[in-house]
Amino acid sequence: MRIGFIGLGNMGGPMAANLAAAGHDVRGYDTAAPMPDGVNAADSAADAAMQADVVITMLPDGAVLRAVANQVLPAMTPGAVLLDCSTVDVDSARAVAAQAADREVHALDAPVSGGVVGATAGTLTFMVGGRAEALATVQPLLDVMGGRTVHCGPAGNGQAAKICNNMILGATMAVTCEAFALADKLGLDRQAMYDVASTSSGQSWSLTTYCPAPGIGPQSPADNDYKPGFAAELMVKDMRLAMQAADAVDAATPVGAEALRKYAEFVETEDGRGRDFSALLLRSSRDRRV
Ligand code: NAD
Repeated sequence: MRIGFIGLGNMGGPMAANLAAAGHDVRGYDTAAPMPDGVNAADSAADAAMQADVVITMLPDGAVLRAVANQVLPAMTPGAVLLDCSTVDVDSARAVAAQAADREVHALDAPVSGGVVGATAGTLTFMVGGRAEALATVQPLLDVMGGRTVHCGPAGNGQAAKICNNMILGATMAVTCEAFALADKLGLDRQAMYDVASTSSGQSWSLTTYCPAPGIGPQSPADNDYKPGFAAELMVKDMRLAMQAADAVDAATPVGAEALRKYAEFVETEDGRGRDFSALLLRSSRDRRV
């Protein structure tokens, strides 16, 4: 397929390289990042989109996505697909889909989980919102970049699934860190706490796959001085999107809000920036009851 790829940063770079390596004709554009292997440089976002069967975007946020959509949609061929893999607010995803429909372009929101490791290995999970026919068109591309695709419903529902998942992740990691800090203060050995909780009802992905305590459980960023992994500031971004969406639809998410407050303080007023989000354990260990 002929692909325009816009946003070639930490995630988009390896995703575009994998598509080129699989034999697709990829033309890329980024305001700053270098061209990945096998990707031809376009002069602008509109240039990358021209005559493409599929335009893929992997951008920082909803405002940038809206700006790029304004540039690429007029250049796209009717019937082509705009596949946004960025994590953005649900409203921006739905606004871009409506704008695309006006130009007879199919839009899909398809945020990912799996991080830079998954982008490089081609094992991302895609959560997709939009029409099934458009998804069928891009499925061969998703199969190159990832291992699993879940169709979540109409436009915006991929983003909705992503922020619900990451709100669960953020809150379970926060409380897992609190449990280790509490165990420390109670004189309960961390390994003993892990051995019980990992095989009991306290079990979660945060505990058993991505344990925040160094030297316990499988290898995780905690064993690598909390190098990301998934940076704490990206968790703040995703949990803010969840709170923004909750406000918009009047959903009560006080547990998510409290977890966000902890990550935000860790990133914005302490030493959390650039560290994996599981480094919240360092903060939980310092916390005192107030
Ligand atoms: P990044 O900052 O490394 O990449 C974004 C790229 O977009 C940059 O190279 C930037 O130069 C480019 N860009 C910005 N404005 C542009 C414009 N107007 N035109 C063209 N290019 C432009 O970020 P990333 O880590 O690759 O993340 C991309 C998206 O994926 C984000 O929405 C993020 O939330 C999401 N995400 C990231 C991870 C992760 O672990 N990094 C995991 C899941 C989802």
